Amino acid sequence: MLHKSFFGRGGNCPFHHKSFHTEKTDNMLHGLKMAEPGERLLTIYQKLNDHFGDLKWWPGETPFEIAVGAILTQNTSWKNVEIAIARLKAFNILTPESLFHAKDEIVAELIRPSGYYNIKTRRLKSFLAFLHDEYNESMEGMFKEETWLLRKKLLGVNGIGEETADSIMLYGGYKEIFVVDAYTRRIMERKKIIEDDWSYGKIQRLFMDNLPKDVELYNQYHALLVNAGKHYCKKRPDCRHCPLRSLESNEIV
Ligand code: SF4
Repeated sequence: MLHKSFFGRGGNCPFHHKSFHTEKTDNMLHGLKMAEPGERLLTIYQKLNDHFGDLKWWPGETPFEIAVGAILTQNTSWKNVEIAIARLKAFNILTPESLFHAKDEIVAELIRPSGYYNIKTRRLKSFLAFLHDEYNESMEGMFKEETWLLRKKLLGVNGIGEETADSIMLYGGYKEIFVVDAYTRRIMERKKIIEDDWSYGKIQRLFMDNLPKDVELYNQYHALLVNAGKHYCKKRPDCRHCPLRSLESNEIV
């Protein structure tokens, strides 16, 4: 729902898919000289994109719903988040104003299916207070903020870490920021592209310094890595069926 495929499916040249064929982007991409890490990252993208297709990632009808989902999804499955969000909607309080004024006990009860509901209520309320104080409850106003300044501010909100802040900004605000999660780390480590002691910021920079700066690419790439991690690169990897199996000889079988 939020993006179109960056490279499309099955094309040989990733830079010539018709849905991405504009003069501006052509110039941008043909001017690029991909360094080695960039080529490897693009090859991984292409293989996953060919396999999974356009994932229409991140369910959420509004930027605010996406932000709430990003906070609720910490340490739980998306299925549970969907139930919690449906309950907030049914109670008619899934707006910044209503949720800000709702009693903590009510919010906690409604989001109970997402787990850690008291902690998550506090986190939601902290985010809502921030949105209220800084942007008059306007998500649009918040996203007008310069990307790295907004990121810094979001990281100052209780309970919002790097992955949550980046998810809110990329998926809710179409900001050019790459989201790193446990699946990203696992796949990149197993593909020997990163070391196990790399920080979140270092992994994020690897992607952002070596890929074209493009919101739809970042959106779809993260979605592809999550899917690859869920279906193939699990704790016990299923390399035999993984679309990345042909890349080098580092499969774990
Ligand atoms: S080939 Fe194996 S190790 Fe590599 S990404 Fe796929 S499942 Fe993970």
